[in-house]
Amino acid sequence: MADTSLQTGLTATDVAAARRTHGWNELPKAKQAGPLRVLLRQFSSFLVLILIIAAAVALALGERIDALTIGLVVLLNAGLGFVQEWKAETALSALREMLSPQALVLRDGREQVIAARDIVPGDILILAPGTKISADATLRRAAELSVDESVLTGESVPIAKEEEMEVFAGTSVTSGRAEAQVTATGAATEFGKIAHLTGSVGTKTTNLQNKLGHLARQLGIAALLVAAGVAGLGILLGRDLNEMVMTGLSLSVAMVPEGLPAVVTITLALGATAMVRQNALARRLQAVETLGAASVICTDKTGTLTENKMTATRIWTLDRQYEVTGTGYDPAGHIAWQGQRVRAADDAVLGAVLKTGLYCSHAHLTRDGDTWHMVGAPTEGALITLGYKGWCDLPEERNLLAELPFSSARKRMSVLYQSETTAEILTKGAPERVLEVCTHIMTQDGIRPLTDTERGSVEDAYTQLAEKGLRVMGFASRSATDHQISEKDMTFLGLVGLIDPPRAEVRDAIAMARSAGIRVVMITGDSPITAKAIAGQLSLSITQQLTGAELDALDEAQLEAVLQGDILFARTKPEQKMRIVSALQAQGQIVAMTGDGVNDAPALKQADIGVSMGIRGTDVARDASDLVLLDDNFATIVRAIGEGRRQFANVQKFVRYLLSSNAGEVIALVINIAVGGPLVFLATQILWMNLVTDGVTAVALGLEKSEPDQMQAPPRDKETPILGVSGIVTILVLGSYTGLASLWIFFHLMDQGVELARTTAFTAMVVFEKVSVFAFRSLHLTCWRIGWFSNPFLLGALVVTLGAQVLAVYWPPLQVLLHTVPIGLNEWMFIGAFALPILVAPEVLKALRPAPLPRDVIGAEAA
Ligand code: ATP
Repeated sequence: MADTSLQTGLTATDVAAARRTHGWNELPKAKQAGPLRVLLRQFSSFLVLILIIAAAVALALGERIDALTIGLVVLLNAGLGFVQEWKAETALSALREMLSPQALVLRDGREQVIAARDIVPGDILILAPGTKISADATLRRAAELSVDESVLTGESVPIAKEEEMEVFAGTSVTSGRAEAQVTATGAATEFGKIAHLTGSVGTKTTNLQNKLGHLARQLGIAALLVAAGVAGLGILLGRDLNEMVMTGLSLSVAMVPEGLPAVVTITLALGATAMVRQNALARRLQAVETLGAASVICTDKTGTLTENKMTATRIWTLDRQYEVTGTGYDPAGHIAWQGQRVRAADDAVLGAVLKTGLYCSHAHLTRDGDTWHMVGAPTEGALITLGYKGWCDLPEERNLLAELPFSSARKRMSVLYQSETTAEILTKGAPERVLEVCTHIMTQDGIRPLTDTERGSVEDAYTQLAEKGLRVMGFASRSATDHQISEKDMTFLGLVGLIDPPRAEVRDAIAMARSAGIRVVMITGDSPITAKAIAGQLSLSITQQLTGAELDALDEAQLEAVLQGDILFARTKPEQKMRIVSALQAQGQIVAMTGDGVNDAPALKQADIGVSMGIRGTDVARDASDLVLLDDNFATIVRAIGEGRRQFANVQKFVRYLLSSNAGEVIALVINIAVGGPLVFLATQILWMNLVTDGVTAVALGLEKSEPDQMQAPPRDKETPILGVSGIVTILVLGSYTGLASLWIFFHLMDQGVELARTTAFTAMVVFEKVSVFAFRSLHLTCWRIGWFSNPFLLGALVVTLGAQVLAVYWPPLQVLLHTVPIGLNEWMFIGAFALPILVAPEVLKALRPAPLPRDVIGAEAA
């Protein structure tokens, strides 16, 4: 393949031609569960097995209509299950789509971010630390590049790569920078040959799903045993065989919470979709669940708490200080010294600072009409803009001879530039890291040795700028003697202060986290003074700040002790995050940790919830994370925690709801057998209640909005059971009431015929179950507080299910299937009278109970 120009890359015509020959850069997709598979899955559950046995038994006993009804219920249930699961499946695949990888390429002379699938052979890829390489390529330019090839070779030590060497799709850059020409894409790559798939939303079942699946199975087995026991006993006592077998079947159907697993799945999947609307993309469903229990958020500063839109506002040199006007990356603006405009050409020291900022950089400004865009790191973009404002000459790329790239550990970078007359090393970075390699300083009177007093002046100036919350960069240079970059004996040039304003929403988000009992720990690579100033602007209370070096000096016990307080970590290396996460976890905290760089991946994996950045994050960090912030915003984490809490609460609500409905049925059936009455509910009626009416209501309960005081309570314990003692008591109390009430109705109406009595008891149970749902809408707030009409899905579900029950009683075909007869006003009044306390009593109890926590308006809407 001919070499593509490193100045321009491919043109649109080249790309089109290559696409025709080589196709898209993608691997054959994994087979997604198709509609048929999802449908078939509905028939493979334990419940369906019980039902099929039930239908067979009914058939064997000559109860053809019952067998038919059970068959129809199985179909209906499968239909509902299919709709839910299909919805969950499509929601998840939409999320998967959003994770598709991107790549930075050079095309038509411009660096552009494109979808990785658009890459064609010949493209020039631009590689930086954390980039996941999307195609096989040959390095055309490389500076200190090393690549992690463990996906291909299993070897986890990064491999150093030089020009003309190959890099492979699926591997990732651990350090350095490079430009590489693509040689193979898609299935033709080495990675394609071993065909893996990337960018998936994990479909592993979550703890919650596992726990509930387990609960459902246990109840299923218990149901079979109890049913067999009761039926066997009845037969031994000489009761009618047919009736006892049908009773046993009814009982087992009544005890199994059929809807549970499907309702959980759909709730989590719909919840994940709701989170995306709030800019939080969960890569694993488990993340949503864990988020609800998060007790600490460890966050970086730049870009998460702040806007990451940098503007240089101050320049400090030993004998002059300058102000800079203008905002953003628009070069309109100027540099002023004592109120007078100055340009690079007028002032040698200023010129040297500006030149270093311009040359020691990978950012570019592009212009689109009146608006300016920046490609690259915001810090560097701001320095380019500053260079424009000072009328500095732009660098010529061909004069760049070597580079020592920036890394978060070194916190500085250097380049070697050659002009016609000189060769120069230019360095920029954290001021203290630049100052430590300087022996001289540049002044208006020339270069002179750096004395302790002058070092002190630099440090004072650095502190003063940082105290204003500015990000401060230091600059140095020296002439080069050979083509090697040696960062020593350099001349200090000056400092630039960059403003990076805090994000508007973060202040409230921090306040909300505090009221929700969630601690916020800032861990930043920036200076402690800047970090403290920004924390102050955001009302994040800090009593102690530690630098990475100070952190290294602490032993585990000391670290545990400092982690009790309001602490901030500054000038840290990404590697140190891991230690902080582990120490917090040792205290029993559930930790959410943000990270964007390649070295953040281990900490993201270690954290309970690894949070990566959708905009500025690297591919490696994203792959290691559970949650991607599509807007890089801290406030999104807090919102996602709110969403996690909402979902856990909703799962608790519908589990309790479903089980209390089942409990009512079981209590009625068992007591009825004990007193020797005829069957109070028929097997088909129970199926109707559990599958047709309860399932729909439970899904609607899963869509309940967050409660107004949700973010005013401390995080739940990770081990919080879904049921707990209060849940079990509620289920038993409510179940006893509905069970006994429907039995009472049954016996009371018995003299008007068992059919009428049974239909009324059956309808009463359905109505009770529908009315009781209001008690579960919040486990501690009254419906007055959360709003009777705030969940339209629930109201819709109630209308539909109660409507269905009316049909079950009055519509002849359903009368045949469900063995019902029409009931009169009198019966409805009985039902109404017994239903009323179910609506009223929980409201009264909740209203009388003291509020668990002081209510506060903060966050009521945002959550
Ligand atoms: P955070 O960890 O909150 O994102 P950060 O961006 O300051 O903050 P790092 O990226 O680790 O963290 O940067 C650490 C320091 O290195 C910065 O404060 C800055 O002084 C310096 N620095 C950042 N970017 C560059 C760069 N491109 N070239 C040279 N030095 C840099």
